[in-house]
Amino acid sequence: MSDRQKRFFLSEDEIPRQWYNIQADMVNKPLPMIDPRTHQPVKAEDLYRVFCEECVHQELNMTDRWIDIPEKVRDMYKFYRSTPLVRAYGLEEALGTPAHIYFKNESVSPVGSHKLNSAIAQAYYAKQQGIKSVTTETGAGQWGAALSYAASVFGLEAAVYQVKISYNQKPYRRNIMQTFGAQVTPSPSMSTRAGKDIINKNPNCQGSLGTAISEAVELCRTTENCRYTLGSVMNHVTLHQTIIGLEAEKQMRLAGEYPDIVIACFGGGSNFGGISFPFMRHNLSGEKHTRFIAAEPESCPKLTKGVFQYDFGDEAGYTPMIPMFTLGHEFMPANIHAGGLRYHGGGSVVSQLKKDGLMEAVDVQQIETFDAAMLFAKTEGIIPAPESAHAIAATIREAKRCVETGEEKVILFNLTGHGLIDMAAYDQYISGSLHNYATTEDEIHRFTDTLEQII
Ligand SMILES: *Cc1c(COP(=O)(O)O)cnc(C)c1O
Repeated sequence: MSDRQKRFFLSEDEIPRQWYNIQADMVNKPLPMIDPRTHQPVKAEDLYRVFCEECVHQELNMTDRWIDIPEKVRDMYKFYRSTPLVRAYGLEEALGTPAHIYFKNESVSPVGSHKLNSAIAQAYYAKQQGIKSVTTETGAGQWGAALSYAASVFGLEAAVYQVKISYNQKPYRRNIMQTFGAQVTPSPSMSTRAGKDIINKNPNCQGSLGTAISEAVELCRTTENCRYTLGSVMNHVTLHQTIIGLEAEKQMRLAGEYPDIVIACFGGGSNFGGISFPFMRHNLSGEKHTRFIAAEPESCPKLTKGVFQYDFGDEAGYTPMIPMFTLGHEFMPANIHAGGLRYHGGGSVVSQLKKDGLMEAVDVQQIETFDAAMLFAKTEGIIPAPESAHAIAATIREAKRCVETGEEKVILFNLTGHGLIDMAAYDQYISGSLHNYATTEDEIHRFTDTLEQII
C-alpha cells in the first residue's frame, strides 16, 4: 500500500484561467433581485453605488458560461493554488468504509480559508475602478481576514463590521484583520443609523451577519469612492469560488476517479457552489448523476426548514430583495461556533437549484460536527474549522451508509478552513460544555410568516 498517492496537485500552468458561471446552463434561471418598493427587477445601474461594476455584471450574467480570471488575480492565486486534493485514507480506515473519501483542502490559503478566492477578485476589481476603500461584514472573521489581506495587496483601505459575539469570542481573527491594516468595529455599533436602531431596541444584541451587512452597506453609501464587498450569498462570489471545483475536477482525474457525492458546508452557499457547480454542469448536460449535499447547522436550517420567498439580504432591509430559501431576515441564530454558517438565507442560484431538486440539504447538530472534527483531526492531522466540520459530519454519515451497503462510493467534500483560531470551541467540546441548539417550528414561523408573499 506504500505506493498509494495521498495528495494531488496541479502545476501553475494547469490552474484554471476561467471561472464557471452556472447561470448560463440553468434551465430555470434564478428569479431576479427586486426593488422592495416597486417589486421591479433590479438593474445593473441600481447596484453600481454599492458594488463594483464588474461584480455587478458578473452577478447578472446569465449568458456567458466561462468568465476570464484576470491575470493579476490568477497571479495572486498562485501564492497558494492549486490547493491539494487529498485522499482521506486515515478517515476511511477509522470508519472501516469501502467509500473513497477525498477532500479539497482550502485551509492552506494564507488566511486559512476559501474566502480569499473571492476577496482577491473583489479587491482587484475595486482597484481597477479607481475605488479607494472597501467595507464589509464578517462573522467568525474569515471573510474579514480575507478581505483585509486582499485590500492590503491592492492598496485599498478596509473597514470591517464584525458580529459582536465573534469580535469578543474570537479576538485573534480581529487581530489578523488589524495586522493587515483593516479598521474593525463590533456590530451592532453606534457608528451607523442601522446599528443605533438595533441597539436601542435590544441593548444586549450580540449581532448577526444581517445586522453587520446593514452597517457596512450604510457606511459604503455614506462614504465617497467606497464600495461594499460580500463574502458569500451573491452569484459573483460563488462564481469566483468555482476555482475550487474546477481544480478538483482536474485533480480527481489525476486520481482516476469521479465523485458520486459532493458535500460542502453551507453558510450562504459560496463554497458549496464553488466546489459543486463545475461537477453539476455535467449533471445539467445529462452526462453524470452526482449527488450534491449542502450541510447546514440545525440551529440555522434555511435550506432544510426555511421557506422559498423574496427576502432582504440584511437585517435592516437596505438590500434589494433576493429570491431565497430563508428563515426571515430578522432570524437570530443561536451562538454556535460555526459563525460563518449563521446567515438567514441562501443565494438565489443555490436556492433555485434546491427548489428544482438538483441538490440536497441536511442539517447537523453542533455536537455531531465536533465529533466529526475530532475524528478528522486525529486521522488526517488537520484541525478543521467548525464550519468545515459540518461537511465532515455529512461525509461521515454517507461513508457509514456505505459500510452498511458495501458500496464503494466516491465522496468529495470541501475542507473550507482550518480551526487553529477556533480552539476555544474545541476546548468547550473537550470539557463537555458544548451544547446543541435546535430550532423550533415556532421560531421559524415567527420570522417567515411575516414575510411579504411575493412568490
Ligand atoms: C464563511 C465560511 C463558510 C461558509 O460560507 P459559504 O459562503 O457558505 O461557503 C464555511 N467555512 C468557512 C471556513 C468559512 O469561513
